Amino acid sequence: LGFLKEQPLDNISKEKRSKIMRAIKSGNTRPELCVRRIAFSLGYRYRTCDTRLPGRPDLVFRSRKKVIFVHGCFWHVHERCPISHIPKYSLWRQKLLANRKRDRNVLNALQREGWRCLVIWECELTALDNVQKRIVEFLG
Ligand SMILES: [Zn+2]
Repeated sequence: LGFLKEQPLDNISKEKRSKIMRAIKSGNTRPELCVRRIAFSLGYRYRTCDTRLPGRPDLVFRSRKKVIFVHGCFWHVHERCPISHIPKYSLWRQKLLANRKRDRNVLNALQREGWRCLVIWECELTALDNVQKRIVEFLG
């Protein structure tokens, strides 16, 4: 968590913060749908939100024993991403740090059980070509 200490004071304006929050609320499931559509169009078939696995991965490729998570940058605290800035003095802070810790535990648990995991971040969806490439490289 070293990078958190280097964060400057919470200097995002109120206006900008509320804009970000609105975008997050309204776009909550969109990134996930976008990744599903890409994987599907590439010919991959998957289950969604498999509750038998730790963390309910967004896309599950059982025969390959691989999963893809689609993470919102804010809620899942994407490092060095402008959307994921952690407020220094805010009620959000504890919540976000807890999310981050939980995500790590989930990935560790899956890997221990022999699953390979790919995390696709919300901000990556501005370059769909790259996302496509990453999915193909990951799934083979
Ligand atoms: Zn991001």
